Amino acid sequence: MFDKIYVEKELTHSPITENILKRFKSSEVVIIDNYEEVFQKVKKPYLQKRETLNLFVAQKKGALVKEAPDAYGLSGEPHYYFINAYNCIYECNYCYLQGYFHSPDLVFFINHEEITQAIEDTIHRHQEVSDKGIWFHAGEFSDSLALSHLTQDLESYIDVFKRNPRAYLEFRTKSANTRALEDISPLPNVITSFSLSPADKIKDNDLKTPSLNTRLAAIKKLRDKGHPIALHFDPIIYTDDIVESYEEMLELIIETIPLTEVEYISLGVVRFTKDVYKQVKMNYPESEYFYSELITSHDNKVKYPRPMRLWLLGKIKELCLKYGAKKESVYLCMEE
Ligand code: SF4
Repeated sequence: MFDKIYVEKELTHSPITENILKRFKSSEVVIIDNYEEVFQKVKKPYLQKRETLNLFVAQKKGALVKEAPDAYGLSGEPHYYFINAYNCIYECNYCYLQGYFHSPDLVFFINHEEITQAIEDTIHRHQEVSDKGIWFHAGEFSDSLALSHLTQDLESYIDVFKRNPRAYLEFRTKSANTRALEDISPLPNVITSFSLSPADKIKDNDLKTPSLNTRLAAIKKLRDKGHPIALHFDPIIYTDDIVESYEEMLELIIETIPLTEVEYISLGVVRFTKDVYKQVKMNYPESEYFYSELITSHDNKVKYPRPMRLWLLGKIKELCLKYGAKKESVYLCMEE
């Protein structure tokens, strides 16, 4: 899987590093002082990840927890994300990571103690001034479960939320890798959220990710073990049969989990920053986005015109309610 594994000198004896190196015996191991000396130093085209992929085992310095943009999650409470990895093994053709880093190589930040401390400090600071809940999201720059058997970090993050029941943690994923979570006792404030799209959209756009049925099987496994589940229908991509295809998907979902049991459903329409849009055009020139009308909006994002976005969001929300979702559990992501 990895051609080279770069390990920061200070981390060579970490049990996580040892576990990774044991699993990838044929990868060349290179010891370095600091990942920043190598990662992104030479621009590596995004699609080169199909041929050669390297891994960095590193420590995250600087800001470990960051405030999430407005309209990122359920409104009324502050949202933060924490950074425990960069880049992803999947290849969704709309992924914003393709315009974000100069390299698709993976970075695992394994200084989990410092990251969890930063989360806990943020919770305490918030609770000194407010009695509202506070949210933390993993997976802003990666998929939070896809490689969790390698990063071995879920438990240390969950422990923070065991001690802080008024704070919420979300693991966002398109994977079906629930192995690590299955062994952990569920907590009401730790939510695993699955991004879902109709089966044919997953096949066309979420390249190398598990199919809809495989993701639904993963949801069932976690739900049966008592883990709270949330759903993201994001990105919603327009097609002539959009209503039928979301109805079909919702029918499959409610065979797996009633929507009344889903903590929340977020809806978001496909959108790109200008840089990502350029990359998508270059990397996936045949993709269906280029057959629809797209505009550059006042927030500098490339997206469908507002009436079309509102129609799409309204229609899918209506379907969610028809299939049993509670009105207050459905929210629009990144849409004012
Ligand atoms: S799963 Fe998420 S992070 Fe990974 S390629 Fe797809 S959109 Fe990007």
